[in-house]
Amino acid sequence: MSHGRQKGIIIAIDGPSGAGKSTITKLLSQRLGYINIDTGAMYRTLALVVKRTGISLDDEEALQRVCIGVAIVFERSNGGYRVIANGEDVSDAIRTPEISLLTSEVSSRKVVREIMTRMQREMGKEGGVVLEGRDIGTVVFPDADVKFFLSASVEERGRRRYEELKAKGEDVSLDRTIAEVARRDEQDSNREHAPLRKADDAIELDSTVLSIEEVLAEMEKVIKSRL
Ligand code: C5P
Repeated sequence: MSHGRQKGIIIAIDGPSGAGKSTITKLLSQRLGYINIDTGAMYRTLALVVKRTGISLDDEEALQRVCIGVAIVFERSNGGYRVIANGEDVSDAIRTPEISLLTSEVSSRKVVREIMTRMQREMGKEGGVVLEGRDIGTVVFPDADVKFFLSASVEERGRRRYEELKAKGEDVSLDRTIAEVARRDEQDSNREHAPLRKADDAIELDSTVLSIEEVLAEMEKVIKSRL
């Protein structure tokens, strides 16, 4: 193998929330027989623990303790995966709008990013992985074999998030959901450490104009050419 990794290549998929990263990453990793690492779920899990323990985000030591003390495992289930934190299934608890916003704050802290980045490198280093996040191609694996940046208009991303939340029975409004997505974009793009940014060598795909199948076809074409 020209890439020299044990289990296959490293594929990075970055982009703002609601661009379709999770769906695409799940399908792509299934087709390739690769592991799927949802780094957003890792940051969300930390936010949940921060909320439950009630620590202050300014208390660096406590934040560090939380990061080191939580064991996050992705367990395969029904073609997808569940997120298990210290033995508890937190898959649903980490997807509420409240946790989404808190995650954006928690993940802006330097100490959090350092520990998470180290963990993610450890999880992905042997290859055969698709990692999705905000800073995979720029910070976590700048030497990833293939990098994609998945984007979509803020209205479209807000609408998708709204449909998702509504389907789960959450009491949400479309305008508020779009505003929340825009706020997270703003926070994620303007933070000091590892802001959301397209890596120079990432291939940008816009899911406002491309269907899921079209995005996947495009990705598979690129991946084939690199293998
Ligand atoms: O992708 P998802 O919407 O689940 O990510 C939740 C939040 O986690 C993002 O808004 C961002 O603040 C943070 N995140 C991050 N770096 C990553 C992945 C997610 O800062 N690699």
